[in-house]
Amino acid sequence: MAGHIIVVSGPGGVGKGTVVSQLLLDNAELAVSRSWTTRDQRPGEADDAYTFVSEDAFESAIDAGEFLEWDHHFGNYYGSPVPAANDARDLILEIDVNGARQIHENGHAALYIFIDTPSLEIQRERLSGRGDPPEKVDERMAGGAVERELASELPYVHVANDDVARCAAEIASIIADYRDSRSV
Ligand code: 5GP
Repeated sequence: MAGHIIVVSGPGGVGKGTVVSQLLLDNAELAVSRSWTTRDQRPGEADDAYTFVSEDAFESAIDAGEFLEWDHHFGNYYGSPVPAANDARDLILEIDVNGARQIHENGHAALYIFIDTPSLEIQRERLSGRGDPPEKVDERMAGGAVERELASELPYVHVANDDVARCAAEIASIIADYRDSRSV
């Protein structure tokens, strides 16, 4: 049987990926969905951060119904493949708010977690520090403001990433409560 779906969203530069990695280290019953994207791999980015594909391959997969959700933002496609039915682990989808909305509108049961930055200055520093040019950083900051606005329309639990270990522990506890609430 497939596990629960846990949607994790948040503006770029809030450290979602680091928090999710910490969560996976501490919780063997969690797995992360590997998204597909048509964007270029960043310098130093892990090969398995995404399944990096061409636009043609992505559009063929859309037509074949191979995504649970997908979206087009910052000039590229991003999508979550339909999860394997025989994996009992809970599956984390690290996706944007539009993707989360699709999951919600399609009636999938899911837990929604929104990770945010403790301050906009810290978010800008993190974005600048990962190698994107200044205009991309501005674009991501503006995108973050829109994500916060859209997130207010979905049942997100909001968590601040002031400290990776603390934030991951808070999310683990939210997930444990969700599991309990679904098993009664
Ligand atoms: P980045 O290019 O910085 O890795 O990701 C840009 C945005 O795409 C982030 O907000 C991230 O959450 C979102 N994203 C990553 N994977 C997916 C996905 O599979 N579906 C959707 N809808 N958004 C995704």
